[in-house]
Amino acid sequence: MGLRPEFAKGVTGFVEYAKTLEPFQHNGVIKCPCNKCQCLYYYEKPDIVELHLYRNRFKKEYSVWTSHGEIDNSLMYFNIIFLVKVVAQ
Ligand SMILES: [Zn+2]
Repeated sequence: MGLRPEFAKGVTGFVEYAKTLEPFQHNGVIKCPCNKCQCLYYYEKPDIVELHLYRNRFKKEYSVWTSHGEIDNSLMYFNIIFLVKVVAQ
């Protein structure tokens, strides 16, 4: 099964927001919310986080929206904000 366009948008959106967060602004790192890293590890390259998300998907708690078929933009926005909050902690 191929990736849904919504998933790609979510990944891009997430990384864009993560770049505005304090860890990236100060140290140039992003906390990875993928299924393997579980927000425990930081990476210096946004590309790596993107790759992880494509490969491992988001943490389980977020898999509902990534596998959901009909996500409108507002819901996507909400989920990205929520993810960024978790990662910013
Ligand atoms: Zn990861």
